[in-house]
Amino acid sequence: MTSFADLAACETDDPVLIAVRDRAITLLLATSVVQELDELRIAVVDFDRATPAVREDYFTPNCMALVQEHGIVVNASFLRSAEIAIRAMGLSGSVFATPFLRQESEMFGLVRHLRDRPQEYGLALRTLASAESERRRRDELALALVFFLGHEIGHLRQGEERRGFTTELPEGTALETQLAAATAKYCRHADELRSFGFDLPGFETVFTRGGEVRVAADAVLASLPENEVINHDTWFRDESRADACGTEVLLQALQAVELWKDAAEPGAYLAVRSLFAVSVVSWFQDLFRLMQQVNEEVDPIGLSQFMLELMRDRHNYVRASSVLGSDHRFTLLRAALAMDRVLQSSPAEPVQERLNIDALQRAALVRLLMDMAVKLATMGASTAWMLEKDKTRGTPQLFMMQFESLASELSRLQRLGE
Ligand SMILES: [Zn+2]
Repeated sequence: MTSFADLAACETDDPVLIAVRDRAITLLLATSVVQELDELRIAVVDFDRATPAVREDYFTPNCMALVQEHGIVVNASFLRSAEIAIRAMGLSGSVFATPFLRQESEMFGLVRHLRDRPQEYGLALRTLASAESERRRRDELALALVFFLGHEIGHLRQGEERRGFTTELPEGTALETQLAAATAKYCRHADELRSFGFDLPGFETVFTRGGEVRVAADAVLASLPENEVINHDTWFRDESRADACGTEVLLQALQAVELWKDAAEPGAYLAVRSLFAVSVVSWFQDLFRLMQQVNEEVDPIGLSQFMLELMRDRHNYVRASSVLGSDHRFTLLRAALAMDRVLQSSPAEPVQERLNIDALQRAALVRLLMDMAVKLATMGASTAWMLEKDKTRGTPQLFMMQFESLASELSRLQRLGE
């Protein structure tokens, strides 16, 4: 048996990550959410140095709440990935001049670095920072950590632990069941995205309860074991609550005026930059992984070919449902909602006009990037209905979605500002 105390032996020894962890803890301690807890233990763990027993008991790819131990485990590699995202996206003060954002291939290049040599790449990015920008980047990373830890604190408060929410269906599950489970996920995601105003024009009427898409999807869902459906409900509820807590903790941390008086830039602005960097890069990581699963030879295939592959093979339909979130809710949506709250809340100090515009542009770009996810969720949720239509018509209809490229999203963003 191992215990939380055994994690001390494999806590990260990276000085930057330690400084960021300490800054995040200072910020957390300024929030009433954390002050109300009896106890909170945080360990940022380098799992490469952990014993097999510790790995077995405590491994998480990102962050994990442990109710009995009043603790949260953070995987140091996860924090390092967030650091790389923040430093890479921080290379320019403007979204339009950020190197990686010019096109998908550059974003996928960044994703490859993250996958193949995070340590070296992270160190190289660190050398590029001036003393002043170093402070900003560390504050941004500390704010991202505050947001993630705030989410886990939400789970701790609810007494929810270690659940892999979207139960992975066991190996060898019939394709029909996998398809039904995927449909359930797509419907949930489409509903959630719609509830926040992200939907696809033309699908409103068929989508509502009693509408054709809904009825066809419900028929598929009826074939799922009941506990699977309940799992989905519980998962969405728990994750939404945890995210609400994460956002609350973040806002409270930003209101701790004393802790921001020496910061290079207002905390609220840094928080928006941080959420932007972490969510955009993680979206491209998910997309890259999915594209490789769909077609590992072409690396990574173009967006339109990718869409064709999705339509062609039902296994891909199942795979693609994971890109919208399996441990947590869809990253871009989480970030978009949190960014809105940060932008709406009155900042502890005035934000200059220039920074304000940049923050609004970042929030807008996250929303534009959600377009693909909305199309994917809508298509996924509508597939049962489309197949039925094909049957009655007797001919299959090729239903193609057009995806916007990063370059065109950026030029759309530029036009919004004019
Ligand atoms: Zn969670």
